[in-house]
Amino acid sequence: MFQVANRVRTIEYAIRDVLAQAKQLERKGKEIIYLNIGDPAKFDFDTPFHIKQALTKAVEEGVNWYAPSEGLPELREAICEKEKKVNQVEIQPEDVVVTQGISEGIQMVMAAVVENGDEVLVPGPTYPPYLSYVKFFGGKPVAYETVEGKGWQPNLEDLRAKITAKTRALVVINPNNPCGALYKEKTVREIVDLAGEHNLLLISDEIYDRIFYTEKFVSTSHIAKDVAVVGLNGFSKTYLMTGWRLGYIYFHDSSGKLTELKECIEKEARVRLSANAPVQKAGVAALKGPHDHLFQMVEKLRKRRDYAWKRINEIAGVSCTKPEGAFYVFPRVEAIGSRWKTDAEFVYNLLKETGVLFVHGSGFESTYGYGHFRSVILPPIETLEEAFDLLEQFMLKRD
Ligand code: PLP
Repeated sequence: MFQVANRVRTIEYAIRDVLAQAKQLERKGKEIIYLNIGDPAKFDFDTPFHIKQALTKAVEEGVNWYAPSEGLPELREAICEKEKKVNQVEIQPEDVVVTQGISEGIQMVMAAVVENGDEVLVPGPTYPPYLSYVKFFGGKPVAYETVEGKGWQPNLEDLRAKITAKTRALVVINPNNPCGALYKEKTVREIVDLAGEHNLLLISDEIYDRIFYTEKFVSTSHIAKDVAVVGLNGFSKTYLMTGWRLGYIYFHDSSGKLTELKECIEKEARVRLSANAPVQKAGVAALKGPHDHLFQMVEKLRKRRDYAWKRINEIAGVSCTKPEGAFYVFPRVEAIGSRWKTDAEFVYNLLKETGVLFVHGSGFESTYGYGHFRSVILPPIETLEEAFDLLEQFMLKRD
């Protein structure tokens, strides 16, 4: 066997790693309810027609070439208009690099920032690529506590205590995946102040910036007037374009601290040529076009969130914080550590017995995610009902 580089061995993505077991059972005839991947387009949400039309038109009109590496000028401009209008963030088109989804953005930013032994503060629990890419580039992700009993808001004392001489960056995911937390404005301000005080690079993932239920989302860059922020955002969730792979990195920087980082990320963009050109045209149509679908989507999700949260809390041995943004629940299971040795064992046994596929909490970071599972709340209520009824029967059954 050819040897592979050690760094690849560190890569994990629990959300899809669990699929192998489900597919194996499916091949044997088991019916699976997939609640592991946050892809609304797999359920009863569809990409708006005007966005599909813009893609077809672009292909038919010959936009089939390589795009500029930083992105189409009209898309970079439309992104600035959106950030200003929706998030009150002032950036210029030259501050934007268009990527093939935020996923590529995370990879590019971590590649440019992390040296061997560097530490990156990530929320605990977190979206898994923030763990995998930091490790891949030789760094150490350090999870700061987000407090379940307080709607998974960050614990600022814990965050402060974990800053060391090796800390290079601080990641914020708001609204949060996997917990569904929406950070209070005061909390965002405190995080910004901490980053400013310790001269940390602030990385803010705002992919769910238009999916919240009660209070309004506040962007980190809106608060961070003179603290530099690398923003990550994209089209997958808001515009139901998951499979089209489109996102962006922006540099919000009044101090010039990000100049070199931006130049390096532009180099990374050039070596991978460009993001998909016709999809970028569709991205312009998405940002400029009607947004009726978004309001309908959030209203539908609100009902599913209310249902999921209430139903899960009726199940003995399971408890769940109410998500205020995004489209996930992250319940705690009391008997993990006793009845089931680990949360991965719980998820696997549930899958084997009922066909319901969740993701184990430790896949989102081992300290704060452990003892939980993540479920999407995307399917129609009847599907959620079926899945949670099966969960309840599984919990009630004694071996
Ligand atoms: N960031 C967060 C917090 C996510 O939840 C996801 C997808 O679930 C992504 C990034 C990936 O987004 P994209 O489809 O733009 O790569």
